[in-house]
Amino acid sequence: MDRQQEFVLRTIEERDIRFVRLWFTDVLGTLKSVAIAPAELEGAFAEGIGFDGSVIEGFARVYEADMLAKPDPSTFQVLPWRGESPGTARMFCDLTLPDGTPSMADPRHVLQRALTKASDQGFTFYTHPEIEFFLLKQGWEPGRRPEPIDQSGYFDHVAHGNSHDFRRAAISMLETMGISVEFSHHEGAPGQNEIDLRYADALSTADNIMTFRAVIKEVALEQGIVASFMPKPFAEHPGSGMHTHLSLFEGDTNAFHEPGAPYQLSRTGRQFIAGLLRHGAEITAVTNQWVNSYKRLWGGGEAPAHLTWGHNNRSALVRVPMYKPSKGNSTRVEVRSIDSACNPYLAFAVLLSAGLKGIEEGYELPPETEDDVWSLTDAERRAMGIKPLPASLSDAITVMEGSELVAETLGEHTFEFFLRNKRAEWNDYRNQVSAFELDRYLLRL
Ligand code: GLU
Ligand code: MG
Ligand code: MG
Repeated sequence: MDRQQEFVLRTIEERDIRFVRLWFTDVLGTLKSVAIAPAELEGAFAEGIGFDGSVIEGFARVYEADMLAKPDPSTFQVLPWRGESPGTARMFCDLTLPDGTPSMADPRHVLQRALTKASDQGFTFYTHPEIEFFLLKQGWEPGRRPEPIDQSGYFDHVAHGNSHDFRRAAISMLETMGISVEFSHHEGAPGQNEIDLRYADALSTADNIMTFRAVIKEVALEQGIVASFMPKPFAEHPGSGMHTHLSLFEGDTNAFHEPGAPYQLSRTGRQFIAGLLRHGAEITAVTNQWVNSYKRLWGGGEAPAHLTWGHNNRSALVRVPMYKPSKGNSTRVEVRSIDSACNPYLAFAVLLSAGLKGIEEGYELPPETEDDVWSLTDAERRAMGIKPLPASLSDAITVMEGSELVAETLGEHTFEFFLRNKRAEWNDYRNQVSAFELDRYLLRL
């Protein structure tokens, strides 16, 4: 047993932990959990805990239904919302087949593989997400409009507002679990909030995002409200994105940083952005994986719909934020399409692969767009060579189907499962006759 594993066992005794939850994520980014007794833990570290993978969509073909979950001791945390004594803790797991080879459907493994590829080229990948979500009143029923908990807007200070209490409670719980929060505020839509996590290596960030969603939902329940990461619950308000800042480091050096260059952006940084733009359409099904994601992307509200980059341009897909000398090595690029309901492991893996491709192939960065891309006509956009993001889940799947980059990054099994699952979602959606259609056509036609 290694030192981290010993530390976990010792803490479990000292803190009277009676339940250890093993966490992992399915292909669509749903958190899965199986609780074991502390006595099982030594065995779990040594060989993993067996479970029937076929119950989880995306995990197994029939012949590989037996799976093992191996807890990663570096992710051990006590769950504050489960009470002190006896306590409950959790660890994220790596999933393997019975012979010890990694499960091809484990999103954490997909990201680890992409990170290994980056590290073979000397890079560590850091991410920092700005997570937006809605706080709603309890009691929503199908067919009814959700009710936000307040009517406030961007950066509003709401006197006696529940959002303050909510953010305070949520942030203390996140900090208790070792997740540092950098920034939080009310967002543009009623009931909408944003919490930004401090940057960390991409695997920790993806784990943190999974924990974040669980914490936000728990704290909301405690406060008698509901939290939702749905990308676009209200047609007339902005949706919830998860702008993510990306950077590559070579040792302690930020590989995107070049003092004196425009926006302090190095050649590597420019090539990385060029990769994000060139492969932006084919990775969108992964960064924006739901039918509803495209209502956000194409619904205005500062969400990007075109493959452009810029500095202060909030309609751009990729933005290079202001460089702060006080923050030293802080040059980074912000991807603005990705939403809060993605699978963060897969999304980070495809973003990284797209950027790395730009570096490997030495892509040339196209000129930045200063205009608000939304205010240009189609003809102007065409003349400027500005291409759109996919307009629907169906379009996004079609582009992804032809993508070698995404197939290679996700691995064949996950790639095919994902496409099949998303095609089925699109077909379910397409079969609906919506309120929009009845309103518009029933009496008129
Ligand atoms: N909510 C906006 C979106 O859907 C982003 C607002 C902002 O933080 O700039 O992307
Ligand atoms: Mg925001
Ligand atoms: Mg932002």
